Amino acid sequence: MGARKLAAGNAQRKNAVFIEPRVGNARDVPRRGWIEVVCGSMFSGKTEELIRRLNRAKIARQHVEIFKPGLDTRYHAQDVVSHNANSIRSTPIQLPEEMLLLASSCDVVGVDEAQFFDASLVEVCTQLANHGKRVIVAGLDMDYLGQPFGPMPVLMAVAEYVTKVHAVCVCCGEIASYSFRIAASESKILLGETDSYEARCRGCFLEGQKGKQGEEEPLTATAQAQH
Ligand SMILES: [Zn+2]
Repeated sequence: MGARKLAAGNAQRKNAVFIEPRVGNARDVPRRGWIEVVCGSMFSGKTEELIRRLNRAKIARQHVEIFKPGLDTRYHAQDVVSHNANSIRSTPIQLPEEMLLLASSCDVVGVDEAQFFDASLVEVCTQLANHGKRVIVAGLDMDYLGQPFGPMPVLMAVAEYVTKVHAVCVCCGEIASYSFRIAASESKILLGETDSYEARCRGCFLEGQKGKQGEEEPLTATAQAQH
């Protein structure tokens, strides 16, 4: 492939924005559901992308519901809030099963911070899609150790559409797909992103992990115990 053709291909990919196969409810077409996954590291714009898709569905007069784990109370209990303060109201839930009842009347179901739910989220999303709903799931694909996070890898396997969004590495400016923990806590669920994590590329993430292992040996043991 010629260099020019390759460059054009890259430029096209950079500008690619997800366009849903169908946004409204055509009367003569039987309603079919599907699953979309929006994943990436912290600061990659996952929630912004979820909100963009949900806002388009709202413009098409679709009934939209957004759910997130009840433990995520960083900002407001009732809102999915992205970092640019562009927010949509949402419902905190403890268990994915609650969505089966709460989302029964809606066309589009959004799930934010999906990595914090247990494996039952996969079954619930599948059931909702099987019943004709469009399900959009946003979450961290990897934890702070670079391991697949919660139900995300299985969701990515069963979804019709997977979009991986990227942040910018704070160390070198490359594309970043890792969430590097700069705080000392070893809890997997550590919120308050801005001061506890930074987005890093693979190289800078590995550098940082090496530095940590030099300081505190038990980090690897703890990581194994969590999986
Ligand atoms: Zn880097």
